[in-house]
Formats: sequence, C-alpha cells, structure tokens
Amino acid sequence: MSLLLRNGVLIDGAGRDGRRGDVLVVGEGIAEVGLFRPPEDVRVIDCTGWVVSPGFIDAHSHSDLQVLEDRREKVRQGVTTEVVGNCGFSPYPAPEDPRPLRAFANGIFCGDENWGWPSAKAYLEAAARSPVVNVASLVGHGSLRIAVAGHRLGPLTARETDRLEGLLEEALAGGACGLSTGLMYAPGSSAPPKELERLCRIVARHEKIYATHMRSYASGLLAAVDEQLELARRTGCRLQISHFQAAA
Ligand SMILES: [Zn+2]
Repeated sequence: MSLLLRNGVLIDGAGRDGRRGDVLVVGEGIAEVGLFRPPEDVRVIDCTGWVVSPGFIDAHSHSDLQVLEDRREKVRQGVTTEVVGNCGFSPYPAPEDPRPLRAFANGIFCGDENWGWPSAKAYLEAAARSPVVNVASLVGHGSLRIAVAGHRLGPLTARETDRLEGLLEEALAGGACGLSTGLMYAPGSSAPPKELERLCRIVARHEKIYATHMRSYASGLLAAVDEQLELARRTGCRLQISHFQAAA
C-alpha cells in the first residue's frame, strides 16, 4: 500500500526552512521526499495548507504505563516517540514483591496495582507492542534503589551498591537509553555523591545518557547545576538537565 502526501510544506527536521513538496510512503517506510514523479496506483492525501514533518520526540514523558495502551492524545499532537523513565521513576526493575515500587512511582505514573516488569528488556518488549508510539526508556535511579534497598534512605552497603550497579548494567544492556535521577525525591535524594558518580561512570561506558531532575530549581538552583556539571565532567557521561527552569 502506497500513500502520497501531496503539496504540503515539508519540514524535514534538519533545521532548514519549510519547502513545498510531496512525501511518498511505501509500506512502512518513506520512499521519496520532495519533487518526484509519483507512482500511478497510490492513495493521495492533499496536504495543501498543511505542514508535513517527522514525528516529534517527547524527550520528557511520564507516560510509562499509558504508552502501553491504545491512547491517541500524544500522537494527535504530533508526538510519535516518547522518552519515559524520567526523574528517577521507571516501572522496572520490579522486585519480586512489586508493591514498594508501585508505592514509589504510582503518584507520577497514575498507575494501579497491576504493573511491574523485572527488567528493561521485559518492559521494552511490552512497549514495542504499543499500538501508537515508539518508546525509549531511561532506567530510574529511584527504582533501582527500591529494588536493592526498598524505601531505606542513605548510603547503601557495599553489597547493595554492587547489586545497584549490576542492575544498571543489566538495564542498559537490555535496551534502556540511559539513567535518570530524581534528586528531589526519596530515596534517590538521599544517595551520596559517590553513588551517583559510580552509576554515571557506567552510563558513560555504555555511551548512553544521564538525565536528572536536580535537587533544586529554586533557591538552590545554581548549586544544583554545579553539582550536575561536576558529575558529568568527572565521569564523562552525557548530561541532560530535565525541565530546566528557575522556579521561585
Ligand atoms: Zn522531574
């Protein structure tokens, strides 16, 4: 089945100005963009007066559970890929008894008592069946801590730290696109700097990304930014400051 989007204003995502042109879709893929002779037997959508662009990536989503449902809100806004697992919250790795993880994350996930995946791989397999959007997922530092030490605050034991690192390794190897922290939220907020540094070194080694909801966006904003820049410099990991704003 071929589809021709005819006579729209094309924004190709490369930063260029919009230009008039067509897009030919054959099967699941884009076959032609711009000015070309279209095949005869093709379904045509007239895009005169419309903009045709690649789908938007929502780089900060908390729809970890909703992306698994047949919900159209985001795609109606043009979003075709969502990056979930932000601010330290991911729906994996779920401990054998997933209730502590649900207690930790349900406030942000708007979830029920029926979710939890043992690994990034298991979650991403479920997400790959999403009827609507593509899903990329960060593994949440808070979720990792819940898996090794429940809601307990403060430094982890050496054994727990080994397990924490092992779970991060497993998540990144299993397809998680990086690590997120939520340093305003317990238990992640209680992690000593050394713990974050060890985890960020693993992220750097995997050449993935570290996204953080910082300790403060108000009176402690500058110190919070310094902390994250220092962490990225020291470990070589790529840093994204989530919802960067001054809230005071
Ligand atoms: Zn956040």
